[in-house]
Amino acid sequence: MKITELPVAGYERVARAEEPERGWCAIIAVHDTTLGPALGGLRMWKYGSPDDALTDVLRLARGMTFKSAVARTGLGGGKAVLVGDAKKDKSDALLGWMGRFIDSFGGKYVTAEDVGTSVLDLDVIARETKHVTGRSREVGGSGDPSPFTALGTFVAIETCLAHLGAGGVRGKKVAIQGLGHVGYWLAKQLADAGAQLLVTDLEPARVERVVREMKATAVAMDAIFGVECDVFAPCALGAVLNDRTLPQLKAKVVCGAANNQLAEDRHGAELRRRGILYAPDYVVNAGGILNISVELSTGGYDAKRAEERVRGIGKSLAAVLERAKREGIPTARAADDEAMAIIRAAGASRPAAR
Ligand code: NAD
Repeated sequence: MKITELPVAGYERVARAEEPERGWCAIIAVHDTTLGPALGGLRMWKYGSPDDALTDVLRLARGMTFKSAVARTGLGGGKAVLVGDAKKDKSDALLGWMGRFIDSFGGKYVTAEDVGTSVLDLDVIARETKHVTGRSREVGGSGDPSPFTALGTFVAIETCLAHLGAGGVRGKKVAIQGLGHVGYWLAKQLADAGAQLLVTDLEPARVERVVREMKATAVAMDAIFGVECDVFAPCALGAVLNDRTLPQLKAKVVCGAANNQLAEDRHGAELRRRGILYAPDYVVNAGGILNISVELSTGGYDAKRAEERVRGIGKSLAAVLERAKREGIPTARAADDEAMAIIRAAGASRPAAR
C-alpha cells in the first residue's frame, strides 16, 4: 500500500492510499478532532477523476465536523472515499485493504457505512481494524440508524413549532416528501402524535402503505411543494429548496431529514426573507450519528441512551434558531456559527476552517 500525504489547509490530515497494480485508490480526510475522533462514513463511488474524489471527501469531512459539533456527539469530523463502482469493483480483498488504511490512522479516523457501502462491508473491514462503527446489533453495534434519524426529525419539528409559539404537533398539517427508511418512521410518529399527513414518494406502494396505515392524504410528486401545510418535511433528495420550489412553498416551517436541502447557500437567506423557518438539515438529521456515538461511549451501545441523546436534538436546534433570531441571520448560517463556537469553546487549537 502506497500512502501519500496530501496537505490541505484547514484539515488535520488528508492521505491517499494506492495499490497501482490492482487499480485501487482511496482517500481519508480528517477535518477536525478537537471534539473527539473524526467519524464519518466510507463512501464508494465511481468518481470521474482523482480531483473529484478529493473535493468530495473534503466537503463531506468538513460537514461531519459541523454536524457532530452542533449535535454534541463528542466526535470530530472525517470521511473516507473509495474510488470504484460499488456494484462491480467491491471485493473482500479491497475492503480488507481499506480496513488496513483506516487502521493506519490509529483511531483518529473512525469509519461507518455510507453510499456504496453496507453493514456487511463493515464486517469485512472490521477484520483489519477496530475503528469501525454503525455495525449490526448482533455484533454489539448500533444497527439501523433510520428510526433514530426519524425520531430526531420528529423532535426537530416539535422544536420549530414551539419556537414559533405554534403549539404542538397535534392537528398540524405536515407534508412529507419521501417515505423511505426515515420518512416512513417519521410519518408514523407524526400520525401517532395527531398530525395530519400529506405524503408523496416515487414509489406508489410506499405512498399506499402510509395512506392505509396512517390515514394520510396522497399528493402528486410535484405538488408536494405547494400544498397548504404547517410543515414541509423533505425526506428524499438534496437540493429541493431552490429557485423553482421556494415560490411554491406555503409551509411556515421546513424541517426534514434529507441531506443538503438548500440548492445554494443563498436559498437559506431567501427562506428567511419569505418568513419560512428553515431547520438546518444537518442539525435535524443528526439522529443517526448520535445513535452511533453511543457505540463509542463507556459501556458500549444501549438503545435507551441513544434515544436520550437523539432527543437532545431539540435543545441543539433551539440554540441554533435562537442564535439566528438574535443575530438576524439565516438559520443555516447560525448552525455553522454555533458549530464553530462549540469547537472554539472546547479549547480548539484552531477553529474549523470555513
Ligand atoms: P431512502 O432511500 O430509504 O428513502 C428515500 C425515499 O425517497 C424513497 O422512498 C424514494 O422512493 C423517495 N424519493 C426519491 N425521489 C423522490 C422524489 N423526487 N419525490 C418523492 N420521493 C422521492 O432514504 P432514507 O434513508 O430514508 O433517507 C432519506 C434522506 O435522509 C436522504 O437524503 C438521506 O441522505 C437523509 N439521511 C438519512 C439518514 C438515515 O439514518 N437513513 C441519516 C441522515 C440523513
